Amino acid sequence: MDLRSRQFASLYRHEISNGQLRSNLSKATLQAVDKRAQSFQEVDFPFLQKEARNIKREAISNLNELLSRFEDNARRNGCKIFYAQTPEKANAYILGVAQKFGARTAVKSKSMVTEEIGVVPFLAKYGIEAVETDLGEYIVQLAGESPSHITTPAIHKSRTEISRLFHEKIGTELNDDPAFLTAEARRVLREKFLSADLGISGANFLIAETGDVVIVENEGNARLSTSAVKVHVVVTGIEKVISNFSDLRIFMRLLGRSSTGQKLTSYVSLLRGPKGEDETDGPEEVHIVLLDNGRSNLLGTEHQEVLHCIRCGACLNVCPVYRSIGGHAYGSVYPGPIGSLVTPLYFGNENAPDLPFASSLCGNCTEVCPVGIEIHHQLLAMRHEIKSKSGTSVERFIFKNYRKTMLRPGRYRLMSKVVRALARTSLLRLLMRGWYPYRETPQFPPRSFREMYKSGEIK
Ligand code: SF4
Repeated sequence: MDLRSRQFASLYRHEISNGQLRSNLSKATLQAVDKRAQSFQEVDFPFLQKEARNIKREAISNLNELLSRFEDNARRNGCKIFYAQTPEKANAYILGVAQKFGARTAVKSKSMVTEEIGVVPFLAKYGIEAVETDLGEYIVQLAGESPSHITTPAIHKSRTEISRLFHEKIGTELNDDPAFLTAEARRVLREKFLSADLGISGANFLIAETGDVVIVENEGNARLSTSAVKVHVVVTGIEKVISNFSDLRIFMRLLGRSSTGQKLTSYVSLLRGPKGEDETDGPEEVHIVLLDNGRSNLLGTEHQEVLHCIRCGACLNVCPVYRSIGGHAYGSVYPGPIGSLVTPLYFGNENAPDLPFASSLCGNCTEVCPVGIEIHHQLLAMRHEIKSKSGTSVERFIFKNYRKTMLRPGRYRLMSKVVRALARTSLLRLLMRGWYPYRETPQFPPRSFREMYKSGEIK
């Protein structure tokens, strides 16, 4: 994964000054928020959220056991299982499978984990073309970009921009009608489906009791990528496993509504292994790569609940920071509030030290999260961890004394007088120079509430 979070400050400045981008984002995210709200009118969201949270908590607490049950059942179904500790190991395994089948072209359906391991550029180095077949992913691949959103990869592009892109890259006429653009993408991608040997997909859920791989989607491209090929490789995180179909029912009611405002996505595929001897369709081999990449380090920590995420993207749509800068500014394949947690947790704080601070802590993300992850509390905890290790001595001094001040009324009264006096000079501005360029100057009243109350000025 291309981690550029160190450059977050310069990336967000660049993105925030792009008026077209902000307008595209604002339109698309507001529409998504509206659709989500409408679709939840007919179900009891708090009840489903609580159920989903409990199911995920149970599943992640018993991850080892569920994974081993899934593994046994999937092997029984004829799948081959590979546990990958790192992206490098996952990529090497996928390459081995591709070479065994002599694959030159792969069709890939949307999957954040495949973005995380960077499988497309990796295979390209070995002469294997991996084509994105989800429309949004196909658009960003043509543009040479990474996805800007977890569920809507090309959310940052307008119809006109996409039309221009198709004209330049695949020679279509300039026409920004969505039906026309979709038909053109379909025309190109059908050829790829017919010529590909290898199909790569992610998974939304893994069912331990049966070994099924569950994929939800709207375009049917995942079905083609997993069935019209000789070999299918599923690449997914170890945290996707749940116990049984009864648990899946809860997520099916939440996922579509949270991501696109749909009761259910157009396709829900349950894949159970390679084609049988008497079957004509389906892959000859199915491989399941289960990626760890830092996930197991979260077990037993206060960040364990981050593993509950079902990647619906709802927290991105309601985040005022994401809505202003889009996904690319995060410098990670996982943008938005959940990306600001996942990126430093999977790749180390040192690789994304700014991301937990890319939040207003308004709590919108926590409110909409279908699995009830307390995202803004998690972000706050991450800030604490980062600053307690890397904060400057001035910051440590300020926060230590701030705490003492807030605990002692006499000290609080004295300090509020000192700060008001400083605010009348340029000294406060000088002391807090890191604060002022980005925020409005707080206006301090000449006298405190207590003084005014005592003097009878306010009653
Ligand atoms: S953190 Fe919650 S809201 Fe955000 S993508 Fe994950 S499941 Fe969806």
